[in-house]
Amino acid sequence: MRTNNKDLYSVLGVSRDASFEEIKASYRRLAKELHPDVNKDDPDCAEKFKELTQAYEILSDPEKRARYDRFGTDKEMADPFGGMSDIFETFFGDFFGVGQERTRRTVSFRGEDREIVVGLTYFEAINGAPNKIIEYDRYERCEKCEGKGSVSGRKVVCKVCHGTGQVTSSRRTILGNVYQTYSCPECNGKGFVIEDPCPHCRGTGRVITKTKISISIPPFTEEKKIFKVRSGGNAGSYGEEYGDLYVQIKYINDDRFIRDGYDLIYPVNISFPQAVLGTKIKYYTPDSEEDFSEYEIPSGVQPYAEFKIRGRGLPKQGGRSRGDLIIRTIIKTPTDLTDEERELYIKLAKIRGEYLEKDNLFKKIKKKIKK
Ligand SMILES: [Zn+2]
Ligand SMILES: [Zn+2]
Repeated sequence: MRTNNKDLYSVLGVSRDASFEEIKASYRRLAKELHPDVNKDDPDCAEKFKELTQAYEILSDPEKRARYDRFGTDKEMADPFGGMSDIFETFFGDFFGVGQERTRRTVSFRGEDREIVVGLTYFEAINGAPNKIIEYDRYERCEKCEGKGSVSGRKVVCKVCHGTGQVTSSRRTILGNVYQTYSCPECNGKGFVIEDPCPHCRGTGRVITKTKISISIPPFTEEKKIFKVRSGGNAGSYGEEYGDLYVQIKYINDDRFIRDGYDLIYPVNISFPQAVLGTKIKYYTPDSEEDFSEYEIPSGVQPYAEFKIRGRGLPKQGGRSRGDLIIRTIIKTPTDLTDEERELYIKLAKIRGEYLEKDNLFKKIKKKIKK
């Protein structure tokens, strides 16, 4: 790592209070003079040209110039890793970094957040589920090495990046050497290496484990609601903190009902005589898994008539209200008549003037065809 104590103003040959125009003019003049293409025999020139370009980059930018003026030229200039902007760092790497923070890691070891979908019965959605068990696979901290990833518990500072997790390479361009910072290939950006990896977690400090947790679902939980479980996600590598778990609610269909948004349709089969005369039916609501209520269907009900029980559907508006339960009548035409029933239907049809003997009907059609 190089240090540079040169004053940027003197590199550009201007005074500290030089205007932007003056800096620009001076840079242009010196850049022509020092350009590596015209000074191929002089290796110092390339270095000088680079210094010039970098000095200009800073002093031509009011913000960077102000920062440079504030931090000065000596000690801060020697500090290889600085608090300047990322772009600045990318381009100038260890050259002009200014600031206090010496090491800077690009890799985070916090565990990943996780998302899972959890099925809830209508009953649970309405009544709540204070002890809902959720099972899933996740990374948990390795017990054998307490998450450290190494048998001895030792981390060795990476010799390549000296613990920073980053390396800087230089590339020659028309502007001189351009510096770029990469994640250290030796330690994959960790800044340390583990020389005696734990065999159980293969040196990562975490292992995939079947996990069982219990969460409390409040009453009137709407579908798609998301609950955050702090630290319910994956364990971090090398003993670092767990990510969070996001539990999204999905309703499990209940065969007794047809779902229509927040409303639940409860289909009920009734016979012809029941439709004609009226009847009493049993119906269920999602409030209870066993208990039922009774409803009086009036006489003369039509097929697919609907009777609304307000507020007995699914939770909505964040659980502040509920959809409706709708009883729907399905009138079943009987197909398994006994002789006695058949006689009665014929009699009924005759009374209503609706009876046509099949034979008669057949003869009439024949006559029509002959004509
Ligand atoms: Zn490294
Ligand atoms: Zn381990």
